[in-house]
Amino acid sequence: MSNPFVNPLAIPVLGFCAYSGTGKTTLLKQLIPELNQRGLRLAVIKHAHHNFDVDIPGKDSYEMRKAGARQMLVASHVRWALMTEDARDGDPELVHLLKQIEADKVDIVLVEGFKKLALPKIELHRAAHGKPFIYTQDENILAIACCDDTQLPSSELPTELRRLDLNNIGQIADFVMDYAKNWQAPSVCLPIATVEACTLGNDKNLSVNQGLAQILSHISPVTEVEELELDALDNRVLAHDSISPIDVPQQTNSAMDGYAFVYQDPMPANLKRVGEVLAGHQYSGTLNVGETVRIMTGATVPAGADTVQPRELATEIDGIVTFEGHIQAGQHVRLAGEDIAKGQVALTKATRLSAAEQGLLASLGLNRVSVYRRPTVAVFSTGDEVSQPGETLKANCIYDSNRFTIKAMAKRLGCEVIDLGIIEDSEIALEATLAKAATLADVVISSGGVSVGDADYIKTVLARLGNIDFWRINMRPGRPLAFGKVGDCLFFGLPGNPVAVMVSFLQFVQPALRKLAGEVNWQAPLFPAISDEILRSRHGRTEFIRGIYQLGKDGRLHVSSTGNQGSGMLSSMVKGNCLIIIGDDVEAVNAGETVFIQPFADLL
Ligand code: AMP
Ligand code: MG
Repeated sequence: MSNPFVNPLAIPVLGFCAYSGTGKTTLLKQLIPELNQRGLRLAVIKHAHHNFDVDIPGKDSYEMRKAGARQMLVASHVRWALMTEDARDGDPELVHLLKQIEADKVDIVLVEGFKKLALPKIELHRAAHGKPFIYTQDENILAIACCDDTQLPSSELPTELRRLDLNNIGQIADFVMDYAKNWQAPSVCLPIATVEACTLGNDKNLSVNQGLAQILSHISPVTEVEELELDALDNRVLAHDSISPIDVPQQTNSAMDGYAFVYQDPMPANLKRVGEVLAGHQYSGTLNVGETVRIMTGATVPAGADTVQPRELATEIDGIVTFEGHIQAGQHVRLAGEDIAKGQVALTKATRLSAAEQGLLASLGLNRVSVYRRPTVAVFSTGDEVSQPGETLKANCIYDSNRFTIKAMAKRLGCEVIDLGIIEDSEIALEATLAKAATLADVVISSGGVSVGDADYIKTVLARLGNIDFWRINMRPGRPLAFGKVGDCLFFGLPGNPVAVMVSFLQFVQPALRKLAGEVNWQAPLFPAISDEILRSRHGRTEFIRGIYQLGKDGRLHVSSTGNQGSGMLSSMVKGNCLIIIGDDVEAVNAGETVFIQPFADLL
């Protein structure tokens, strides 16, 4: 398993890994000019020996550094270099190094070395060296570059893995160009906080954006597709582009009840009415200059005619029609295909189908459409104090609300839901439930038992059964969060407090389920609103305050908190219609200042 890595930059980072002596630097020296020629601006980070130096004894910069300057920046009018003394026990931290790159000056960062990090990489392999393959152990390898006659361990390469010719620089350059072109920054949604370095390992404090980026990097969308009738499409996600089989509208038609005619400049004083055409019908002849046809909204404009004058601005006496007002060529005519042309993509793959989309498909006559299968989500609660609603509440206990909020939100996202109930606090019961859930569902969501210092069994069981990280997210409410995999199944261990559960679901589970369901780059809609009160936060923590937003008398969006913000108080979620998000770089918001709100909209 490689060490986790989160790219802190808004440009792609691509590694080149190999055993030493394979020729990484030789290859990069040929690849760099090739990529430059193709217009790609590069930065390179290289992992070097511990005693490397770029400076020369005797130079002023060298002497000043040796005299004790921890950072030495030397600059001329063509280049500058920053040297930093940063002695450490282990490897240098790539995320920290990447943050030194000026990402507005380059398009991609190529990284040589850092073999153990989970960053996307190309493996270079030379069979003559007799070293093992890296790609068989590292799922972050996107391509294996080796000699044409090299035998790979198995003839079947993983589907995502490309084979490249180590001696074909052009082909490797093509791959890098494609990677740079298709790379998408992880869809982190909060504009208020930036994605920062993420140090996992001993220190599992993460910002909201870091947690989300990590989660999304582990989600692969479902691939199974089913064809459904229009009536069964609600809230499903389109698996292919929908191509229009017809022009919409099919014929050029009138947007008004009125008179159709051939536009002339100037228009004649009057026109002769030669016929009438109703919606669903057609005028059989071709209209000549000086003639007009009475026409109804939606009726096909007669051949020859190009303009319609509304009935209110026309007078007809004994078959002679006169018009008032200004007439513009082509007015009040809807052209064939002006909404959607035949052969045009009407809806793109990955669109979630709501009312308007279903209407559009129907308007094209498409009655069967391919959509992704629904993700399956299994939900359970833990905790000896957690009781089933409907049963008598025992002393010192609470009713289980989390299972019901989670199920409702997952259903709104179009998931199939499996309810596994409340699992008693015993290792055997938890282990059996999790193992079963992992075979039934794409995602398992539990609540409770993941707090730091919590003695619940879930942590021990999870640690044994799956590959789970326990994080402390710098947010309130919802600090503890467990995320990982049990077999192929994703696992979310949400906190226990009911508001924390809902907030964590909205911020982490929702984007994950949407990506899993086939949506691409979904982002939570955020709107600016004026805070009507002082809102307190803490630097380094993202605050999700339950708020009520409304349109103010000044015509602008205003928001105030729902009052008491206890993380167990579900009534605050009921009273509120949005989350007020205070980014981790803000201490307090004064009344009158602008904040971002995330409306509950249609999910809650
Ligand atoms: P825990 O993280 O397990 O210590 O739980 C934190 C708080 O959330 C405790 O007050 C629990 O009683 C409460 N809690 C845990 N699970 C649930 C649940 N399913 N429904 C409502 N409250 C819960
Ligand atoms: Mg508990």
